[in-house]
Amino acid sequence: MIRLILLGGPGSGKGTQADRMKERYKAVKISTGDLLREEIRRESELGRRARQFMDKGELVPDDIMIGILDKITQKFESRKQSYILDGFPRTLPQAEALLEMLKKQEVALSSALLIDVPESELVRRLSSRWTCKNCGATVGYPDGKPRHAVCGQCGGELYQRDDDKKETILNRLKVYRKNTEPLIRYFEEKGLLKRVNGFGDPDSIAAGIAEILEHLPRT
Ligand code: AMP
Repeated sequence: MIRLILLGGPGSGKGTQADRMKERYKAVKISTGDLLREEIRRESELGRRARQFMDKGELVPDDIMIGILDKITQKFESRKQSYILDGFPRTLPQAEALLEMLKKQEVALSSALLIDVPESELVRRLSSRWTCKNCGATVGYPDGKPRHAVCGQCGGELYQRDDDKKETILNRLKVYRKNTEPLIRYFEEKGLLKRVNGFGDPDSIAAGIAEILEHLPRT
């Protein structure tokens, strides 16, 4: 079983790569962003609270995110289902809460994998990113979306996320630098960090990740 964290700025390809890995490694992708967007769609109390932060590119407060943490992973642990966390943890308290929870479950994190992409490339990708309403897959159209384009995975309708607008993108990057980048050091000091070059085409990045995962301990 593998328990993997994907680290990387917004637009670094965490979601795309997690989608590829989940087939190859029979793992589930747990995207906290997708989970929160689903709560917003359902107009739940959690969705209502999360939305005010997400629309501005801010992080949803730790107490909310840590509060849903065991909802996120527990059921996979009990089914011995490998999982890939996309977008969690995003702060030091979240990382500590996750490791604490794994310790209580008497299991270990396989690795925190950093998908390394320069910031200028993140801005370029996010501002041309379209997301499938149906399956959440993303596609980049740097020269503008062709009028009748649909999702390449499922044929669903494509939309531009509210937080993929220019000012919000810049704020998300600022938030990433301040809150999430320190996690790189945190996991490095614990000997859990792996890095992959995330600048290039998705296939070669996937190959770099596969190479790393080959050598990870399984439990
Ligand atoms: P993502 O789809 O991962 O880019 O997440 C979209 C937005 O959801 C983020 O900009 C945050 O507002 C919120 N979010 C997702 N995961 C977390 C998390 N672990 N902690 C705080 N906020 C989160």
